This record gives sequence, structure tokens and C-alpha cells, in this order.
Amino acid sequence: MNTIPTCSFYGNSLKGYIPPALRQDTRKLNHQGPSKAKCFHFPTQSAALEAAAKLPGLELFSEDLDSSGTRHYLLASYNDFWEIYRKRTNKHFYEVIRENVSCKLYFDLEYVQACNTHIQESLLLESIAKLVKEGLKQILKRKDYALLPYLRCLVLDSSSKEKFSKHIVFPKIVFPNNRIAGKFISTLLQCSDITSQLLVLKPSRDEMQTVLAIDLSVYSRNRCFRILGSSKFGENRPLTLGQQMTQRLLNETLVCCFHPDDVILIDEAQIGYIQPLNDSFELSSILKTSLLHTKHNDPFVASHSKSSPFPQVDKFIESVIGDGQVKGSIRNVVFFSSSLKLVYNIQKYRYCHRIGRHHKSNHIVIIVELNTMCYYQKCLDPECRAIDYRSPPRPLPEQLLQDFNLATSCKDSK
Ligand SMILES: [Zn+2]
Repeated sequence: MNTIPTCSFYGNSLKGYIPPALRQDTRKLNHQGPSKAKCFHFPTQSAALEAAAKLPGLELFSEDLDSSGTRHYLLASYNDFWEIYRKRTNKHFYEVIRENVSCKLYFDLEYVQACNTHIQESLLLESIAKLVKEGLKQILKRKDYALLPYLRCLVLDSSSKEKFSKHIVFPKIVFPNNRIAGKFISTLLQCSDITSQLLVLKPSRDEMQTVLAIDLSVYSRNRCFRILGSSKFGENRPLTLGQQMTQRLLNETLVCCFHPDDVILIDEAQIGYIQPLNDSFELSSILKTSLLHTKHNDPFVASHSKSSPFPQVDKFIESVIGDGQVKGSIRNVVFFSSSLKLVYNIQKYRYCHRIGRHHKSNHIVIIVELNTMCYYQKCLDPECRAIDYRSPPRPLPEQLLQDFNLATSCKDSK
């Protein structure tokens, strides 16, 4: 437990040390009159970090000063920060998740609403919870019910009509630092087929990219992470929890604020216990590429899963692969994001339009083109393959079209 740079944050002691760069400036920070709250403020992050390193017991926050990204930095105890924060009418504050300071498990989720009307928020959040549960299960080797206390999470929302934006914080799961928190998440993403449920479409130039709804860039050094009740400067879109803010609630949502006795600490070595749960090798190798933030030439996301990132389309395909006698099912589906194609491998149902009957043993494939919103059948029979047979395309149902409006409205929306 001594890896936790102890958050003996309550009851800070300055021990007589005041770095030259520090100036105590409480009046400026309290527009509504003087208070006893102690706070130091700095014009630059580097000066603030230097002071913070020498002043254990004080925490670092930043505040937007304008909408161009100018910020200043505040160093205060959690109690003093609360005194300042609660009195502010316009809140534009961030917690600085310092390098080498232990932090809770947290996620930053975002996507463009118009391009992802097929996504069900509740399922997305459920998938995050499942992912975390899988990880904890493998690391702690405990039964489900014993994991429950750690799986409780707080969902902070600042979504708008245009943008889905949520922060999820797991107050009882802690890592030695932000980088290791990020490693836990990327390891899980590479080892689980739940990852395919966390994909969203992102407009980029003239095509749609498939990306993770989880922003992995937040696990970088000294990250500023917006806090409960705060908006970016110039926006009125505060992070909310649907209940009145109290100091206790704020602290629970702060990524670096916790009591060591209340949490479970996961260190870097334990992350090594996470293993691929199922046959998700292909998914993993491709995701590795996107997890490293490199642009791939032929971007596609493949999976051996029976479901694609588009559950409504899966459902529709299931409805067309059957007749009175035979009921087919999806063996697997692969999503090619570069061409926006879904390739469904079908089992049991083998009706081929070329021969007008079922093949005896060869499987059929159904291709869905999301850019044209059509689907057609191909098959694995050698004769059909020889002429690269594809059935006449048919439109996807009107309802799906409305759900998507992908290719048209989104491409232009950014
Ligand atoms: Zn055929």
C-alpha cells in the first residue's frame, strides 16, 4: 500500500515552506467576499506542479480563464477547494491528474450523436461495467457478488443534442497512477470481445471512421479532467449527476480523492493477469493499432462476435435468414469501417439467389453496405465464387434508414 502517494490530504500542513513562485491570493479567488480558504495560484502548469510536489496534502486544480484555453492553476486542500468552488457562480474547473499520483478508475466517453443514433446509451454503459467486471474478476479471482462493491460507478453527464459526453468514475478502484489506469483499460479492451460494443462512428473528412467511444488520450501525463458542476469556458454544459452537489459528492467524483482504506488498489503487475477470455485474437491485433493512436491504411474492425456495432442491422439480418423450414443464424460478423460494410457469415440457412434454392453444404454470406443502405447475398459455393456472384441488392428497411442517416447527414456535419 505504500505505493499510494498518500492522500493524507485532509489536514494539510505547509510545514513553513512557501516556494518563491507561490502567492497566497484568496481574495481574488473569492468574488463573494473573503473566506478562510487557503489557496495558491499559478499562471503556468509547470510552476504549479513544482509547488505541488513540495506540498503534500494540497491538490492541484485548473480553471479556464477564457475560451481560448488559457488556464491558471490552483493548489489547495480538498476542504479549502470546496469552500472556493461552491461559491463560484460560473464554474470552469478541472482536476489535474498528476503523474505519479494514484487515481481512481475513470472513463471519458464521447461521440457525435447524429452519426450514432443506433447506439443505446444504457447498453454502452452496461458494456463498460461488464468490461471492468471482467478485468476485476481475472485480477482478484473473486466471485461476482464479492466484486459488487467495487463495481459501483458514478456517471457524470454533460451531453448536448450534438455530442454525447459522459465521465464514469469507479470510486472504489484505484491505480498507482494515471498511466497504469490507462494500461488496465487498454489491456482489457484487447482481451475482451465487449470491445466491439464500445465502437462508434466518427466523421472524418469524407468517410466515417470506427473508433472507440472511450477517449484513451485522458490517461496521459498531468491530465486536466473537468469536474462535477463545471463547464468549459463559454459553454453552459456542466457535468451533472442528477442530484444536488455536496462536498462529499464532489470528492467522490474527483479522480484523485479517496481514502486508502476504502478502495482496492490494482498495481501494474496485476494487470498482467488479464488474459484474452475468448477467441478474440483478430479483434485484439487490430485494436492494438487503434489503441496506439496510429492511423491504419485499411482501417477495419473485425470480430468473431455474433454481433456488430449495429444491433438493429444484426436483428434485421436475422429476420431475413429464414423461411418456413429453415431458420438460419449469424455465425459471425465482420465490420469493415473503411468501406462501411458489414459481412455476415450465415449458418444453417443456405438459400442462394443464383440457383434459386439452398446449397447443400456451402454457406452463404450477406453483405450490408451502410453507405448505400443496401444488402445482398454472396456465397461460398465454388461455382458462385468463380463468377463472383452477388444477388441483386435490396434496400434496408425504412426504419433502419431513419435510425442511421449515416452517410448523408454525418459526413457533412463536422
Ligand atoms: Zn450460391
